[in-house]
Amino acid sequence: MLRKQVIVVVADGLADRPVPKLGYRTPLEVVDFSPISDLLSRSAIGLWDPIQPGIRPGSDTAHLALFGVNPLNNYPGRGPFEAIGAGAVLMPGDIAFRGNFATVDNNLVVVDRRAGRRVQEAEQLVRYINENIGEIDGVRVEVYHATEHRVAVVFRGEGLSDAVSDTDPHAEGVKVLESRPLKPDPNAEKTARIVNTFTRKVHELLSNCPLNAERVRRGMPPANIVLLRGAGKMISYPKLTERKDVSIGKAVAISATALVKGVCALLGFEVVTPEGATGGVDSDLMSKARVAVDFYRKGYDLIYIHIKGTDSASHDGNVEAKIELIEKSLKVLSYIADRVNLEQVVLTFLGDHATPLTIRDHTSDPVPVMVYASDVMADNMVKLTEREARRGTLGRLRNVELFGVLMDYSGRLEKFGA
Ligand code: ZN
Ligand code: ZN
Repeated sequence: MLRKQVIVVVADGLADRPVPKLGYRTPLEVVDFSPISDLLSRSAIGLWDPIQPGIRPGSDTAHLALFGVNPLNNYPGRGPFEAIGAGAVLMPGDIAFRGNFATVDNNLVVVDRRAGRRVQEAEQLVRYINENIGEIDGVRVEVYHATEHRVAVVFRGEGLSDAVSDTDPHAEGVKVLESRPLKPDPNAEKTARIVNTFTRKVHELLSNCPLNAERVRRGMPPANIVLLRGAGKMISYPKLTERKDVSIGKAVAISATALVKGVCALLGFEVVTPEGATGGVDSDLMSKARVAVDFYRKGYDLIYIHIKGTDSASHDGNVEAKIELIEKSLKVLSYIADRVNLEQVVLTFLGDHATPLTIRDHTSDPVPVMVYASDVMADNMVKLTEREARRGTLGRLRNVELFGVLMDYSGRLEKFGA
């Protein structure tokens, strides 16, 4: 069977809802599709529910599903993925929490759960903790800065459990909680003990940190503790290149976003960030397109291009920026289509989930998807929109189904049965 190379282009958060400012059209309904009109008319169209209708995807869970791992059965909670998004490289068995810099008084009563939210020194505070905290009971501790007052904390060592309670009381005016084992299990007891030692040590360190003295001098609440919540134990994922149900030798992901890079690395992609690719609205998308073509020429089986700016614009409610970034994404697609042998590729364009401009967050709406292969049942569409996609050949796919379809069109899918 001819094995085609698969090229996947995702504009993060692409799908939308009617926008009042656009006369109740969506951004996809106003963008100029002419750069890919030929490709689009020869493609099959459909809708994809990244997880299932009524479940709002994160970019992490959506990417797991896109690349063939059902997140409903394979997700250790947000703690580990928050850490991955903050740049951590996790190993199976690691315990990760989401955390907050917060302000407590001398009796460990929470005064401000977010330490004033603007913690400009967060990077330095995290470094200060990492340099001074050392191991706890033979367990390695690493803190990663996420955004503003948010951090992720990773515990690595033998015999740890995620069946432990939060130290974050989720309220102000009450004491920081002691972490407790959530089941009678020596590993959970050990982990709770380590977490409580972490809390005490971090409070001690931060209370004596010159950066906090400086904050207090400026009238800011000191960031003198880290509150933890949502423990999760990192699991191992099947590498795409080792799966028995699909044949993929080499896969590469081109992205500048830590969370997406982390998920792709877990799934066995090589991960590349081209020069000029920032993940921001100003990212140099054509550098991603050029790198994608390089990997096509090197014969990679699966080439993934992730464009983050569409999602950032959506979270900001920035209509113009989203439209501009969608149009740039289409140029990326057309650049690639012009440089590959269209008889021998499967080329797909979609969003990893909807991020409606009016909502400024991810929703469970299905996303339009375009799948080009020389032998698809083409839908002759001139636009790829949320509304039009309902009429497409692909119908409405859910979760890992899209991955199966892509693998099938590329001749890489094992048969189910004899
Ligand atoms: Zn996303
Ligand atoms: Zn988002």
